[in-house]
Amino acid sequence: MISFELKTGSQQALIDVTQQAQRAVGQSGVEAGVCTLYVPHTTAALTVNEVADPAVREDVLEALRRLVPADLGYHHLEGNAQAHVQAALVGGSVQLPLEAGQLCLGTWQAIFFCEFDGPRTRQVWLSVVPGA
Ligand code: ZN
Repeated sequence: MISFELKTGSQQALIDVTQQAQRAVGQSGVEAGVCTLYVPHTTAALTVNEVADPAVREDVLEALRRLVPADLGYHHLEGNAQAHVQAALVGGSVQLPLEAGQLCLGTWQAIFFCEFDGPRTRQVWLSVVPGA
């Protein structure tokens, strides 16, 4: 299992993990194929979005906070139901094509780890499948 670890520094954040992901993919030795990144967590997610303007990250987080209010009379008594729902909405995996050993991303794109219940130590798992 290829993976990398990260320590998130705040309760909610979108963290650019593109370099860590690229480094991890390099360990696979695969030049072309498909890479799936997956988070083994219930209050975190992965997404691909704009990296050029950091304000986009704040906008995504703010919109998710408004979509999923903290005080909705949740049944889950751990106190982090908002984070569970936010993680469910964004999703726990992304899949990218791999070419010449590089993850293929658009000019303005990066891979973001979405922390919804930090700060915590988190894992990202990768699976690289060779192909044309
Ligand atoms: Zn919980």
